Amino acid sequence: MPVTAATVLAARQPAMAPVFGTLTLFTGRMGSGKSTLALQNAFNRRQAGRPGVLLTSQDRAGEGIMSSRLGVTADAIEVDPEMDLVAMVTERVPAGGFVIADEAQFLTPAQVEQLAWAADEMAVDIDCYAIITDFLSRLFPGAQRLVELADVITPLQVEVTCWCGRPGRQNARIVGGEVARAGAQVAVGDTTETSAVSYRVLCRRHWRSGEPGPI
Ligand SMILES: [Zn+2]
Repeated sequence: MPVTAATVLAARQPAMAPVFGTLTLFTGRMGSGKSTLALQNAFNRRQAGRPGVLLTSQDRAGEGIMSSRLGVTADAIEVDPEMDLVAMVTERVPAGGFVIADEAQFLTPAQVEQLAWAADEMAVDIDCYAIITDFLSRLFPGAQRLVELADVITPLQVEVTCWCGRPGRQNARIVGGEVARAGAQVAVGDTTETSAVSYRVLCRRHWRSGEPGPI
């Protein structure tokens, strides 16, 4: 049989398995449906028989849970900053499998690099769902590394508006009815108003002026 580019390629590609994975970043403000989409994509892949794992970090619903505000939840691996994701993927995800990571802004830059390694070296598809900026409008370090390394960046299309009707731009932290201007980068809260720390998406103008709208 003559050796052609096609035969060489066929010999190097195991049947049914991709030879590389894709690192995709799905982004949106709080309330843009990231967790809902993550759960739907995980469900679809498992229905199709693909092996994979779900990762989360500091989900509002508690440790080891990936939750959507629409009410859907799934068990997930809780990632802490010390977790070695190369070891995790090597142990739990075969080539051609997937990782779906919610709250991926809380990954460390080193963990994002580990997931990029898994995409390149283990042919695992990595989908990361993250908000990009914190309550002070600054990049989360993990989100920054994702922007730098992702093959594909997909903004979610769900509309999130400020109370004034303008497009929501900033993930404002509300403490005591005020737009917070200082504090730790990570303080877990929700977009409901029942907790001491809550979050509300504001337009840039009202985030700047510190007008959170009706509380
Ligand atoms: Zn506004």
